[in-house]
Amino acid sequence: MNIKTATLFAALAAALCAAAAFAAPPRGAKTTVASRVIALRFIRFADDDGANAAQVSLRRIWNAINAANAMMYASGSDIRFTLDPATDPEETVYSTNHNNICVPQDGWQDAPQGADPAKLCPPLPPGRDEKTADEAIKAAQEGGAIPVTVRGGFGRVEWHDGRWRKSGGPAWGVYFGYLDIPEGFGAETTLAHELGHVFGLAHTFHECGSDECRRDPELSGSPLTVEGIRRQILAAVSSGRFERTDKKGMLAALFDGDLAQGVADTPPDPNYKVWGSSFGDNLRAGEITHLCAPANASLDVAVTFPDGQKEIYHFAPDRSDIMGYFKNCWNSNTRYFHFSPGQLAIMERNLQGKMPFVDISYADTDTWRNRDREPAPQSAMQIYDAPAHAQDALVYVETGAAQRAYALELSGPDGKTRRLISEAETDPQKFPPAQKTMYALDVSALKTLNGTWTLRATASGGAAPPIAKWRLEFR
Ligand SMILES: [Zn+2]
Repeated sequence: MNIKTATLFAALAAALCAAAAFAAPPRGAKTTVASRVIALRFIRFADDDGANAAQVSLRRIWNAINAANAMMYASGSDIRFTLDPATDPEETVYSTNHNNICVPQDGWQDAPQGADPAKLCPPLPPGRDEKTADEAIKAAQEGGAIPVTVRGGFGRVEWHDGRWRKSGGPAWGVYFGYLDIPEGFGAETTLAHELGHVFGLAHTFHECGSDECRRDPELSGSPLTVEGIRRQILAAVSSGRFERTDKKGMLAALFDGDLAQGVADTPPDPNYKVWGSSFGDNLRAGEITHLCAPANASLDVAVTFPDGQKEIYHFAPDRSDIMGYFKNCWNSNTRYFHFSPGQLAIMERNLQGKMPFVDISYADTDTWRNRDREPAPQSAMQIYDAPAHAQDALVYVETGAAQRAYALELSGPDGKTRRLISEAETDPQKFPPAQKTMYALDVSALKTLNGTWTLRATASGGAAPPIAKWRLEFR
């Protein structure tokens, strides 16, 4: 960690902890019958020689935890997450094996566009030694926390904005074990989604896990197009597995990824890729405007059978279920995401039966109870005032992924709300997707206002262009 980041960490720690939605009492101190609180211990990784150290700020961690808590609230659960006080942001665990998924070849940055990324950065051999990482994970579990390992190394390389760049690669949640995420785990939905896996949840869509599926995902697993859905239905009927009119049974068997696990209340989900190809998003370019649009909540697939008879199959996946891959829709409004009651039941069962290492503490979070499963009351993305605002220097830069920002409002501790983007600027003509700088707010006049600042981003309802990256700067 460089000095500047360390200072920021230190400066923010007090403000962030004070501003958390609740204060977790010491472990085991049962102060009330209110919410159960589970600690997450973030563990920062670097290569053996210190290179590629993960950059992760407490601010980002808290944004992700707050988002996960908003989702637990929206789901009607009394489980909340907090940052394990034993998390040491100054500490680094050195393990090239854990910190990287692939090894960049010499000269990878000079390769031409169109080169094979898997050749530029071939995967580390499987079964690689992860002893150091295992020890850190085990220590966190023995402390009663769910470990979150944060990688700073190479996940893969990607051609982006005219050159090859390092990418952190995927995040994953190991069943009943720990989370592993790349640094800058951009979308706030990532932590909550991976926590779902740690608690034992499958995806709402079918995985393409088998060799058969990898050969032909359109026929046996995770379709990419509407034509793929048609092929699967035709094959299921011609093989005699289903009557063509048994639509409910067929869709459940072919497209409901977590039904076998016992989650009966998430609708069949043919996977967001079908939505992208059907509604006109270029998913490869990161476009998710149309697949997220409220108007595109369902899809009717017409299938004509060999005898000429036609049937319509209706798909309406729950795009706000966090265990689907629509998880980057409404990114700035994570409050709309949730776990289903069936998913929560699985999580409860596994927490009690398969995760004995987890300590549960209790905190009074009654105001967050939500038995009617209303969306969370505010955006989970919060900007906390840092004491460093008193310096007229750049104190904070945050980047991440956001889509469809419509209006940004910054509420200060003085109770006033400042609008960051005018209505006119939401006009797609005047506010093109390529525009990088959205707004700059001079807070020098506001620097005496210490306290909690809350940023709210309102989604547009589908009309505004997507914004692939967002960045906030306070000067
Ligand atoms: Zn997943």
